[in-house]
Amino acid sequence: EADAILGRQAARESAARTYARALPIVPVRARGMTVEGADGRRYLDCLSGAGTLALGHNHPVVLQAVREVLDSGAPLHILDLATPLKDEFTTELFASLPEEFARDARIQFCGPAGTDAVEAALKLVRTATGRSGLLAFTGAYHGMTAGALAAGGDVDARAGLAGTVQQPVRLPYPFDYRCPFGVGGPQGARIAARWTASLLDDPKGGVEPPAGMILEAVQGEGGVIPAPDEWLREMRRITSAHGIPLIVDEVQTGVGRTGAFWAVQHSGIVPDVLVVSKAVGGSLPLAAIVYRGELDVWAPGAHAGTFRGNQLAMAAGTATLRFVREERLAERAALVGERMLARLRALRCLLPAMGDVRGRGLMLGVELVDPQADADPLGARPAAPALAAAVREEALRRGLIIELGGRHNSVLRLLPPLTITDEQVDAVLDRLGEAVHAASA
Ligand code: PMP
Repeated sequence: EADAILGRQAARESAARTYARALPIVPVRARGMTVEGADGRRYLDCLSGAGTLALGHNHPVVLQAVREVLDSGAPLHILDLATPLKDEFTTELFASLPEEFARDARIQFCGPAGTDAVEAALKLVRTATGRSGLLAFTGAYHGMTAGALAAGGDVDARAGLAGTVQQPVRLPYPFDYRCPFGVGGPQGARIAARWTASLLDDPKGGVEPPAGMILEAVQGEGGVIPAPDEWLREMRRITSAHGIPLIVDEVQTGVGRTGAFWAVQHSGIVPDVLVVSKAVGGSLPLAAIVYRGELDVWAPGAHAGTFRGNQLAMAAGTATLRFVREERLAERAALVGERMLARLRALRCLLPAMGDVRGRGLMLGVELVDPQADADPLGARPAAPALAAAVREEALRRGLIIELGGRHNSVLRLLPPLTITDEQVDAVLDRLGEAVHAASA
């Protein structure tokens, strides 16, 4: 039966299907970190809906919240009208934000995906500044709709838009392992920041005043690359100095994932626009932008959409935000993430195909490389995408779901739920080590 379903869906679905191609399983049940396939096999899910499932699958507090809505007779669909569920969600969300930001923030619900919220953010800063240009970074990922794709660094993914999107000014994102300046470390990040500052400070730098800058505090799809706090503070300083709204895309990094409730809290920067989605909906579709009140220049109705009031998602989201806060899961993610990182580093000493291990909190990446090839002067070896795909397959065979990312699709991304247990940590690392060993043998 599972094979029949896989066959039918492969035949009927678009050739563009992504995860289904990489992970040929048929999930029928899931709880916490465990997913069960139609064939009865069980998997540990280290993808978590691409970072969506902060509490894992079907967490009791989420199920309870959803059930209560279903039993209450509340309307499931009510456009974006004021409801008690939306009121509770917004209250909980605002309480989670840095105080300085929340004090004067506005929220615009967008619907229902991360990419929709990115589009709204871009539109908002363009409206507010009356300018059109954008500053965006190498390796960035912001979604798959036109504006978000333009902001992203993937040229291939943009090909279908052939010349229809306005290109941003592309700036270097600091990347220790493959430093664009061949320097690495804090020095590489300082040069990256200086490059950006010089473009804007130089009256003949050739950059029109942009409508905004958009960045991720930790690049996810780009290969799990945490930006140094100092670099983020520099980006905040530069954008403030030039009156450029700073959009921080926390679609993937939010809700405890990186070891702080919001990734901006590590560096202490206050964004002008925060883009939220994924985990804020507690596994159901929900997306919003939260922004400084001063930017709220939109005319009534300037940003609409049918699906901006998903009541189930708001209830699931409120339950998730509350649970993460009450159980201090961001702190837990920081601790468990450090332990996993240390153990991955130890594993790397045994497995030379693991070229780099990096991350923040429970957003971890392992870059696979060709151990036989020469290293560059900083010690980085060429990326090994075929090997990475083989590891993904070997991992799946061992009951571990992981997905790839990165510039060359050679980075194993580990995004376990924040509730991962010590036993699960052991199992993930054992299976991962075995998979790398088997694939590189
Ligand atoms: N921004 C970031 C940082 C993301 O990681 C993603 C999704 N991986 C998006 C935006 C787009 O979200 P969605 O897939 O829900 O459109």
